Amino acid sequence: MQLNELTIKQARELLDKGDINPRELTDAFLSQIEQLDDKVKAFVTVTPDKARAQADTETPGPLSGIPLGIKDNMCTNGVRTTCSSKMLENFVPPYESTATAKLWDAGAVLLGKLNMDEFAMGSSTEHSAYFRTCNPWDLERVTGGSSGGSAAAVASGLSMAALGSDTGGSIRQPAAFCGIVGLKPTYGRVSRYGLVAFASSLDQIGPLTKTVEDSAIILNAICGHDPQDSTSASIETPDFTKGIGKDIKGLKIGVPKEYFVEGMSQEVETSVREAIRQLGTLGAEIIEVSLPHTEYAVPVYYIIAPSEASSNLARYDGVKYGFRAEGANDLMEMYKKSRSEGFGPEVKRRIMLGTYALSSGYYDAYYLKAQQVRTLIKQDFDEVFKTVDVIASPTTPETAFLAGEKTNDPVSMYLSDIFTISANLAGNPGISLPCGFTKDDLPVGLQLTGKHFDEATILQVAHAYEQSTGWHTRRPAL
Ligand code: GLN
Repeated sequence: MQLNELTIKQARELLDKGDINPRELTDAFLSQIEQLDDKVKAFVTVTPDKARAQADTETPGPLSGIPLGIKDNMCTNGVRTTCSSKMLENFVPPYESTATAKLWDAGAVLLGKLNMDEFAMGSSTEHSAYFRTCNPWDLERVTGGSSGGSAAAVASGLSMAALGSDTGGSIRQPAAFCGIVGLKPTYGRVSRYGLVAFASSLDQIGPLTKTVEDSAIILNAICGHDPQDSTSASIETPDFTKGIGKDIKGLKIGVPKEYFVEGMSQEVETSVREAIRQLGTLGAEIIEVSLPHTEYAVPVYYIIAPSEASSNLARYDGVKYGFRAEGANDLMEMYKKSRSEGFGPEVKRRIMLGTYALSSGYYDAYYLKAQQVRTLIKQDFDEVFKTVDVIASPTTPETAFLAGEKTNDPVSMYLSDIFTISANLAGNPGISLPCGFTKDDLPVGLQLTGKHFDEATILQVAHAYEQSTGWHTRRPAL
């Protein structure tokens, strides 16, 4: 086995025994990036000097010597953080996000910053202002998004694991498209301090990994209350690896009938139904359930997320930091030119949608109404979780689509997240893991959604499923 194919768990054992050292592990990834990233285009910035320095320091901790990539919307002190936007092309943060700081404190090594849809708005990583990241299973296809660089890097062995962020599916959907594991923790589980804000009531940081156990290991490192983020939960953090290896006999798994919709891919439906049967074989009780407000999730999200985005992105005015346009004659013109030239088309679309939905006269009809329906969506989950432990569904209605297929049709792009958005609106944790391949060798994702702050149970179920199948061991031939 090549060093860059190791999981965190495997690398930990080899490092602890002294069979390998952090420097050679880091170098193995840096050389893989050099060889393959021209094809995959996962990295916006590679940080070889910092990586080698961190590897040589050998900070003790559970992630000591583990090389990771970080989505380029988490601030890294002294390392350019672009959000894949022209607006932040030259932005070098003077501080570190809490989630990444915790990784370095645990001994991890930064390989570089990963491509994404601009400001995390998108489902394909085609909205990056720089370049499109390619799906390692078929380079003509998209990686999903917005954490497409993170998913592609892990799937193609350019990074042992990565952090992404998920506002409406941006960890789970690209994980599904790239055949890896992606976990969105409960809202509040991981601090958002230093995560460039998109929609603050929905954003959550989480791991993209090759295996479920690695996901639990990373979550252990990044979770916890942070006084710097008033929405981070002051709640006990269990050891998320505890349930790993426990059987799932007697657990109740709900299958929402609204998550198998007309028009979804037959191959996705077949793989996911087979996976659910497998969970039954492992001893779980499978129960059909209903989440009746599911059909409103996408419209509600596309009011709330753009509203919050329009407010969050008001800070990019060319004055304080980020891009400033040349040749303006007065302040107003400078604002306008800077924002017109600094933001890409999808970001502008969201700002316009959000500004409209929040404007006086429309606020009650759109934003307020959306918040009310959001409550109904949350109540659907609360109701179902009175009788089941976990909800199982497809992560996406289809597998990775071709580049360019949806770029001119925003609504069809928005529908890519039809199965992932509800968990963000309701705050629940969700994980996507591979559960099969289409006849064209494209990965299919199984999504498990849990009760608030019960990541442990979805990790337990995901691990039991993963170990009973071999899907997670398949890697793309590049
Ligand atoms: N695809 C969704 C959007 O475009 C979700 C993105 C995300 O989770 N960051 O907003």
